[in-house]
Amino acid sequence: MEKNVRMSKDQIKSIILDFISDSSLNSMQNGTDEPAWDQALVGFASGADQIWQQYKEYVGAFHWTPWEVFNQHLPEKNVSAECLTVISWILPQRKYVRKTNRSSKKYPSEEWARIRVFGEEFNVALRHHLVERLEVAGHKAVAPMLAPNWTIVKSERFSYASSWSERHAAHAAGLGTFGLCDGLITAHGKAMRTGSVVAQLPVEPDPRPYSDHHAYCLFYTDGTCGKCIDRCPVRAITESGHNKEKCRQHLTISREYVKEIYKFEGYGCGLCQVGVPCESIIPVKTARDALKKGELPPPPPPLA
Ligand code: SF4
Ligand code: SF4
Repeated sequence: MEKNVRMSKDQIKSIILDFISDSSLNSMQNGTDEPAWDQALVGFASGADQIWQQYKEYVGAFHWTPWEVFNQHLPEKNVSAECLTVISWILPQRKYVRKTNRSSKKYPSEEWARIRVFGEEFNVALRHHLVERLEVAGHKAVAPMLAPNWTIVKSERFSYASSWSERHAAHAAGLGTFGLCDGLITAHGKAMRTGSVVAQLPVEPDPRPYSDHHAYCLFYTDGTCGKCIDRCPVRAITESGHNKEKCRQHLTISREYVKEIYKFEGYGCGLCQVGVPCESIIPVKTARDALKKGELPPPPPPLA
C-alpha cells in the first residue's frame, strides 16, 4: 500500500548511493569482489524547465519531455510539468577500469566490455529500484529508458537519435556539458554512464553551473586539445564533431572481438573516454574552480 511520505532530495540521493554500496549487482561479474562502479553524482531538474522543450525542438518531435513520458505511462495521474522532477545520476568508471582501456588501441579492454554489459545491467536495476522506492513513498515514477516504447529514430541531423537521452537529462540536472566527442564531461570526467527517473515529486532543482553546453571541453573553450580525435580507432571524431554512424558500426564489429577474445556476449569501445584530459576531471580550470566555489563560469569566447 502507498504511504504519503514526501521524500527529500537527500533521501533520494541516499537510496541511489546505498544501492551502489550495498547491491550485489554492482559487480564486474568476473569472479572477483570488484564493483562495477564508483559512487554516483546525483542531480535534479524540474519537469517544467524550458530546456526540455529546447531539446525537443532541436532533436525532433519524437524526443520526449518529462511530462510526455510520465503522462504516456501514467495517464490517469494527469500531472502537470511543474509537479515532475527528473532525477539523474552519473556512474563513474573506476580507476583501474579506465587504466585498462587506456592501453587499448582498437577494441575495449575486457574490463571495459564487462562494464558496458554488466555495469549497464546494474544501471537498469538502479532505475527499477529507485522507481519502486519512490512509489512506496507515494511518488509515481517512470524510468524513460525502460519505457516499452523508448526507441531510436533515424535522424537527418544526427544520423540517429532516441526518445530520451540520459546524457541530456544529466546536462539538464547540472551534472555536465558535452565534449567534442559528444560524451558528457562531468565533475568526475567523461568515463561514466548515466541514468534517470522522472518522478511526481516537486523538489528544488539543482542549478546548472554552466552557461554553455560545451563549457567543460577544451576544444570548444579555447580551441586546444582534440585528444579524443586521435584516440578514436575509426576516425569517428573530427574537428566537426562525432560521426555517430561510424561509431555505431565500430561498436557492432566489437561484438565479434569480445566474444572471440573474452568469451562472453558483449561489446564496447570508449577509447575516446580515456587517455584524454577529460577522462576523470573537468579539464577547463576556470570551470573546475568555479564549480568548486559554486560560481557560474563566464561564457567561453567564440572560436576564431
Ligand atoms: S578530449 Fe579534449 S577535445 Fe575531446 S572532449 Fe575531452 S576536452 Fe574536449
Ligand atoms: S567515437 Fe565511438 S568508435 Fe570512436 S573512440 Fe569513441 S566510442 Fe570508440
